[in-house]
Amino acid sequence: MGATVIDGKALADRYAAQLKARVDRLLEKGIQPRLAVILAGDNPASEVYVRLKQKRAAELGIKTDAYVYDSGVSEQTLIDCLAKLNADSGVHGILVQLPLPEQIDAQSVLAQVLPEKDVDGIHPFNAGALMCDEAGFVACTPKAVLALIQSTGESVEGKNTVVVGRSRMVGKPAALLLLQNDATVTLCHSKTRDLASVTKTADILVCAVGRPGLITADMIKPGATIIDVGTTKVEGKWYGDVEFTPACEVASYITPVPGGVGPMTIIMLMENTVEAAEKKAHG
Ligand code: NAP
Repeated sequence: MGATVIDGKALADRYAAQLKARVDRLLEKGIQPRLAVILAGDNPASEVYVRLKQKRAAELGIKTDAYVYDSGVSEQTLIDCLAKLNADSGVHGILVQLPLPEQIDAQSVLAQVLPEKDVDGIHPFNAGALMCDEAGFVACTPKAVLALIQSTGESVEGKNTVVVGRSRMVGKPAALLLLQNDATVTLCHSKTRDLASVTKTADILVCAVGRPGLITADMIKPGATIIDVGTTKVEGKWYGDVEFTPACEVASYITPVPGGVGPMTIIMLMENTVEAAEKKAHG
């Protein structure tokens, strides 16, 4: 069997076309969606991610402002910056690029972002809204995961769905979002016993660990849909958590790394930013 490779870049381009029309409608009303990005420390990967986000934003007509700090920045400086951005009515969305330098308590800083500007969907208010099935910004990578699954035309309803990884940013909200969409969800982590026996039950398998080769072909149910969130750079090359070529022989659908979840995560950030600007425009 040869799995269909889900092209995250092409899907993101289709989302971009729709988003551009929404941005144009805002521009006609004199409102330009604006995203503030805080980047602290010398992390080359973070710098690349921020550049990619700024590039996509520029294509869509979303203004971005980057607030760049060196690795010695204090927590108070970041909190002061966030207070100014929260108070600036022209700023619709705020993104704090993670990771932050080690002397910074990331949770304390992230909690300062106004929930209505938290377009990354990671403020406890928005995380709680997802938990309670209430309106709020959903974290971008989980939204990307759901969109990639839905792009296959398959419904998640009633499907056995296994999420490997339980981080606050990815695994846990992905599991909640899938549950909200009526999937039957199992959440695995580093203490899960006999991971293969669980992953083999998955009609849909979402891997968000960051360990290349963790998921081998014999851990995959024939015909499954595989969403590989993992991104790990080894000797200059990016790898997911799934052994891609052998997995293609077993799965029905699979996302590549790179070119799967990554471009869709960026477009979901843009979608949340446009939504924040629209909410502001409508009072
Ligand atoms: P994280 O915070 O390090 O969490 C990793 C999770 O994997 C943890 O829950 C951990 O379990 C679990 N885990 C570790 N070893 C395991 C094992 N042997 N078996 C099962 N579970 C195991 O990472 P993250 O922020 O969620 O990111 C995960 C991956 O996704 C990374 O590669 C990251 O770069 C990538 N990512 C990609 C995008 C994108 O846009 N493409 C966005 C975000 C993240 P415990 O909780 O028990 O420690």
